[in-house]
Amino acid sequence: MAKMGSVVTVVVAALVALVLCAKSGAGQVYHDYAALNTLFEDLVTNQCPLIARRFTVGSSESGRMIYGIRLTHQVALSENDSPKPAVRLTANIHGDETVGREMLIAFAERLCRDYGTPNADDVTWLLDNTVIYIIPSLNPDGFALGMRENSRGVDLNRDYPTRFEANQDDTAGRQAETAAMMDWTRARSFALSGTMHGGALVASYPWDSSVTGDDSYAATEDDAMYRRLARIYADANPSMAASPIFPNGITNGADWYSIVGTLQDYMVLRGTPSITFELSDNKSPPESALAGFWNDNRLALMQYAYQVHVSASGRVVDSSGQPIPGAACGIDSIEYGYKAPTNPHSGRFWRLVPEPGTYSVTCAAEGYTAVTKTVIVHEATIADPPTPTEQAHAFAQFVLPTAADAPAETTAGKIATDSTAGINIWMTLFLFVQISLIICAVVIYLNYRHKARHAGRF
Ligand SMILES: [Zn+2]
Repeated sequence: MAKMGSVVTVVVAALVALVLCAKSGAGQVYHDYAALNTLFEDLVTNQCPLIARRFTVGSSESGRMIYGIRLTHQVALSENDSPKPAVRLTANIHGDETVGREMLIAFAERLCRDYGTPNADDVTWLLDNTVIYIIPSLNPDGFALGMRENSRGVDLNRDYPTRFEANQDDTAGRQAETAAMMDWTRARSFALSGTMHGGALVASYPWDSSVTGDDSYAATEDDAMYRRLARIYADANPSMAASPIFPNGITNGADWYSIVGTLQDYMVLRGTPSITFELSDNKSPPESALAGFWNDNRLALMQYAYQVHVSASGRVVDSSGQPIPGAACGIDSIEYGYKAPTNPHSGRFWRLVPEPGTYSVTCAAEGYTAVTKTVIVHEATIADPPTPTEQAHAFAQFVLPTAADAPAETTAGKIATDSTAGINIWMTLFLFVQISLIICAVVIYLNYRHKARHAGRF
């Protein structure tokens, strides 16, 4: 009987342990709308209040909130005054693509749980140096209804402004989810973004849309940078890297299939690099498969977030030290590459580069004279994060003189005026000499004729 009792005790203990493990194991259960809300509330109030804040982007067509969480050391600092680059990760814009949603929830839990703990230097460094925005579901109605589109039957990843439209800020006529996301995005600065999908296993980089509409490679000017970013994620995700369909687990979006109105292309248009991560061939796998997906994605998410630090960074101000709204910075080696917008409140920017190295960076703004500086950008991985000295080498302060006060322009103008005056003087002298020579020649000729005419008379 005692034996029987101890067997029962062991079995019960094992079952309890299993249940507890399943609960605490990140990414192993699906969180519905209410559970997601409860979890984020618990993270920001109980588990890691010093590094986490929750927010809502807006509401869906059916009135569900689009929840998000912001994680960083000193999270109480104003978003727009932050001296750190921001990475934004979103998922579930297609309601029936559920893996990305759970991966981002698991990522938020991990950052919250591991920050500042032993053996989690990678998490601690990331949040000490980066702001992470996580929005697990851009389409809460679609998730609740188990469908791709929102509750009005619209595919939200075809609803954003395209690169072929003149006005890319117009929210009129767009779905509530899209308009909310556009307004919320415009009020902030993101240095890097990524968006999770399902139905394939690949990292897909811009453009999503080709000019002709055909399925053909549509490279941005920053193609090398995008290929590297896509590889960073795929290389850290064993299943993606081993794709039998996509070499190295990456593809150009339009080369795969050309579509317009995607969130990815919209972010690229706004000067924020973005990659689409297709995380699972099965759009809605069973909960039992989630742990395996988390194993594939936990390192990839970290390495991708670290890439925001492979960037030329700086602060752009006017001669009185104030940020200049509309100022943007590009790297000179990619003339038509993207220009990273500066934050209008802090003047800060982060311009991702194709690879670590030395870069000439030019910052410009309308009404100001552009300024160029050289920075050295270091690699940034969880095994090799940049040191404070290396971060300082990648940073420069840009003081832009107003165009009217710019000494370079004034000098150039003066040179032009002086040289015009110089030309006039020389032209006058030249004409004077020419006319004198002609008069001289005429006088000599007449003199000769006179002498010749009278020569025979003598
Ligand atoms: Zn999708």
